[in-house]
Amino acid sequence: MPAVDGSYFQPFEIPLKSLGKDNRFVISGKEFKVLEDYVPLTVCNPDRGFSSEDVIGKVAVVRYDEAVPDGGLPAEIKAAEEAGAKALLILKQDLYSDYTVWKELIPSKLRTRWEKTLKEDFAHFLQMKVTQKMNLTPPVTSKIPCLLVREDRITEKHENVIPAQAGIQNADRSLDSHLRGNDGHLEGFSSEISMKVDIVEDKISARNIIGYLPGKGEHKDEVIIIGAHYDHLGLDSKGVPFPGADDNASGVAALLEVAERLAKKGTERSVVFIAFDGEEWGLTGSKYYTGHPVFPLNKTVLMVNMDAIGRNEPDAIHFLGSQRSPEVRRLAGEIANKSDIKLLDDIEFAFKYGSDHYSFYEKGIPAIDLTSSYHEDFHRITDTWEKVSMEKVSKIAELVYQIVNRVAGSQIYFEKPLSVEVPFPGKQ
Ligand SMILES: [Zn+2]
Repeated sequence: MPAVDGSYFQPFEIPLKSLGKDNRFVISGKEFKVLEDYVPLTVCNPDRGFSSEDVIGKVAVVRYDEAVPDGGLPAEIKAAEEAGAKALLILKQDLYSDYTVWKELIPSKLRTRWEKTLKEDFAHFLQMKVTQKMNLTPPVTSKIPCLLVREDRITEKHENVIPAQAGIQNADRSLDSHLRGNDGHLEGFSSEISMKVDIVEDKISARNIIGYLPGKGEHKDEVIIIGAHYDHLGLDSKGVPFPGADDNASGVAALLEVAERLAKKGTERSVVFIAFDGEEWGLTGSKYYTGHPVFPLNKTVLMVNMDAIGRNEPDAIHFLGSQRSPEVRRLAGEIANKSDIKLLDDIEFAFKYGSDHYSFYEKGIPAIDLTSSYHEDFHRITDTWEKVSMEKVSKIAELVYQIVNRVAGSQIYFEKPLSVEVPFPGKQ
């Protein structure tokens, strides 16, 4: 039945941002070039086109390398705001960071490689990749402009000024010592600064589709969520749709199949079925759901995600979450052992940001993902239906049915997921 106030739809918006033409940054009459000497932070502009001029003594300065380890930039920005700063300059050796995700900053090596392999799909892919990264950046809200500035460029033009006045050479590197002088007041950059940040914001309307099977038991307030994203990449530059047969029509097909079977049989706990939108743009649909949950997150016992389940090994599926939720892995393993599907634990590194399960994991909910993983048609217009093994899809649907049916009919509570870092291969 419909889960959202009598409707199946949960609407939301996917934010897109690009760098506008009117960015300006001048210190004592010397102009800095955007994308060469400095760049505004992507995350730092909730309201379009704020500007700040003539902010003498009110510009806080921090070094990126010192700011990021303790609490990260969000904490630093908040501290700057609270100290009364009108803007924040962040000094770094280069202009790349998780917080400055502009397409103009994609390294040329990567750009060339993508251009070569993707040809006419390149522009679309680039936009998607950049938006994806932007939306996955830890959220920061700030009212003040924040600029990442190349340290060598600023010291070239303003010898010794910054380090002395920003107090960042202090041995004590606490936040306050970056930003406040001995008398506790903001000790900002005292030259004449003029700046304008111009970020163009746009958005796409999107919606999650949510169905609900009310439980019949005493614990029907507890829910298990089954998810699969139904969005894909849209059209390429010639207007040809990306079919997305494996990614993720396969998962959606299994979702519907499992829903039908569970509905016929009924369950003790409740089961929620979510077809997520906006996954390809940075898990935006699942992030929206966990930010605006329809069912309380503390009553959400388990989240099972399926994202691309019909390619590669015919009798095996990659299981993401074995290191985060070993109990769930054990239960899934018991069930899989009785079937002819083998669970593979070899790509746990892809758990982070891999798909919509991650948004639930971030909220402390046991969450797993089943996926056939990378193949040569991944995110290309050649991801077509005839390459998908329907047999594999139905085996995975059966597996998910068994797992959810078991949990929904029991009083199993899983531990909160473990916080582990699994490095990408070759990045140890
Ligand atoms: Zn996918």
